[in-house]
Amino acid sequence: MRRCACCSSCVRCGREPGDGLDGAHRVSFFVPDGGIVCRACSLRLDDLVPMELGTLRALERGLSASTGELTRLALDARAQAQAERLLFRFQRFHVGVELRSERFLAETVPVGGNPSA
Ligand SMILES: [Zn+2]
Repeated sequence: MRRCACCSSCVRCGREPGDGLDGAHRVSFFVPDGGIVCRACSLRLDDLVPMELGTLRALERGLSASTGELTRLALDARAQAQAERLLFRFQRFHVGVELRSERFLAETVPVGGNPSA
């Protein structure tokens, strides 16, 4: 599968994280540029969102999945927490406000796992 640009290389310098990394490998996502950044670039940036490559790859699969395939795309509790945090950070960055639905979803659909783990 062809990797999308946002999770295949650093959006700042183009460095690739490598093909041999498993899904648990942690990366930093920079919302203003819409992709991951390498360790060197991350030292100069604030407000990075820590993510596991596996979560980004699952979200990437969801972008090209059919509606039927989406029902089989399951994220574990930790991946859900990471995806939720990334989604809300994107929304706040692009819309500029915190939606009431963010708090509502956090209260009514709690996801397990430690998002910073
Ligand atoms: Zn970089």
